[in-house]
Amino acid sequence: MSNDKTAITPTRAQDFPEWYQQVVRAADMAENSETRGCMVIKPWGYGIWELIQQQLDRRFKATGHQNAYFPLLIPLSYLEKEAEHAEGFATECAVVTHHRLEAQKDEVTGKTRMIPTGELAEPYVIRPTSETIIGAAFARWVQSYRDLPLLINQWANVMRWEMRPRLFLRTAEFLWQEGHTAHETMDEAIVETRMIHGLYEEFLRDHLAIPVIPGEKTENERFPGADMTLTVEAMVQDRKAIQAGTSHYLGQNFSKAQDISFTGRDGTIQHAHTTSWGVSTRMIGTLIMAHADDDGLVLPPRVATQQIVITPVTPKEDTRDAVLASCQALASTLRNQSFHGEPLRVHVDTRDINGGVKKWEWIKKGVPVRIEIGPRDIETRKVCLQRRDQAVTAKEFADKEDFIQRAADILQEIHDSLLAKATTFRDENITPCDSIEAFHAHWGQDNPGWLITPWAGSPEQEDELSGQHKISIRCLPLDKQDEPDAPCVLTGVPTRGRAIWGRSY
Ligand code: AMP
Repeated sequence: MSNDKTAITPTRAQDFPEWYQQVVRAADMAENSETRGCMVIKPWGYGIWELIQQQLDRRFKATGHQNAYFPLLIPLSYLEKEAEHAEGFATECAVVTHHRLEAQKDEVTGKTRMIPTGELAEPYVIRPTSETIIGAAFARWVQSYRDLPLLINQWANVMRWEMRPRLFLRTAEFLWQEGHTAHETMDEAIVETRMIHGLYEEFLRDHLAIPVIPGEKTENERFPGADMTLTVEAMVQDRKAIQAGTSHYLGQNFSKAQDISFTGRDGTIQHAHTTSWGVSTRMIGTLIMAHADDDGLVLPPRVATQQIVITPVTPKEDTRDAVLASCQALASTLRNQSFHGEPLRVHVDTRDINGGVKKWEWIKKGVPVRIEIGPRDIETRKVCLQRRDQAVTAKEFADKEDFIQRAADILQEIHDSLLAKATTFRDENITPCDSIEAFHAHWGQDNPGWLITPWAGSPEQEDELSGQHKISIRCLPLDKQDEPDAPCVLTGVPTRGRAIWGRSY
């Protein structure tokens, strides 16, 4: 038995789902609430969301999108307009049926109860996504080809009555952005769908250090009402897949249902081609499962609520003020440095608590760089530097001036090392498979990785294999659809396309 103590129990190897809950708790990111399936996001977790939001928002604006806001409640009739869409979300909708409460005193207990009254003639659905209500606005805004393209994004909360909620990854209420665009032609709309898909891939790689497989969903896995759904799929440390973001080409399905029509260049009335795309607070769950370890969270530096935490070591009262002043001075200097165009986020932990407790708190919260300064370090002009991507026992006594110069580079090195590690892990766990016997056998293992197979089966055949092994086709990877002909793993029909199969969250 190993004596290595870990800050999180159970470990990843012992019980991955429970380890995940414990990391969220130890890092003080979020907690379950009294409201079914909904979470309270605490400051350390919400700080990550704010950074994701700010950084993505800049990229959306740089690619021509504008933010707007639409109602939370959608008239039921709007959802009824696009049948496939309505059916796709039917089992997950929370519905508002009353608009008033009436106080009633219970004769026996004497307690006051609040009874919903004032039944609405038409119920409202709490938005599970906003295609329908945004489509209704687009129908008013678009008259001529000159009004196109219309490139809108909304930052909002949505609600899907998820039966098996899990903090961040799948909650009933979640925070997200939803882009909605309308275009004159199919080609333009598809360019938009692919551009955003590429933007998500880059964002996950360059900001969250998560390497994803970009691909297309099969017909079975498409967004309800879409003609094409593009996805970015992440592999996390138990080798399951997480759909980290999606970009949909909706064809003219929604524009016909909602009459988003315009007078074209040739004077004829035409229907717009629309897209929608979104990423959510699920990205936070994905980064936890991708990078955290048995000592807690490991934050990719660009979205770390604090990037550097400085802890004063003050064993003696007479040197205390000098140490604190030195720490504050270092923090101010560092805050004048920038990392990817943003000032460094530096915190000095002056709390009067045990140093070991402090240290472990920041380890569990995943802070990329920890610095300690004590009385002797002031004389020697050194700092004790510890990195979250290295062993907790590893430390370097760095020259202070040198550290100030290198701080941003160190953060980039941490990002690069997290990305390299996750990429190696992913690549080692995607196995090519061309025999149906090997395919069936694969899913009997504990934590099986993904399989990539030649695939030309029907939606029904895909369903059958998926149901049999509790797996799904995660995507048809974009760069693997023009491979040399090979027999489909199930039917033997020659195909150039490949599919990635896996278990997922
Ligand atoms: P969709 O509109 O279904 O394509 O979802 C857009 C994105 O939102 C997905 O790619 C997921 O990353 C995320 N998402 C979907 N359902 C949930 C949920 N229940 N909780 C958190 N994120 C979700």
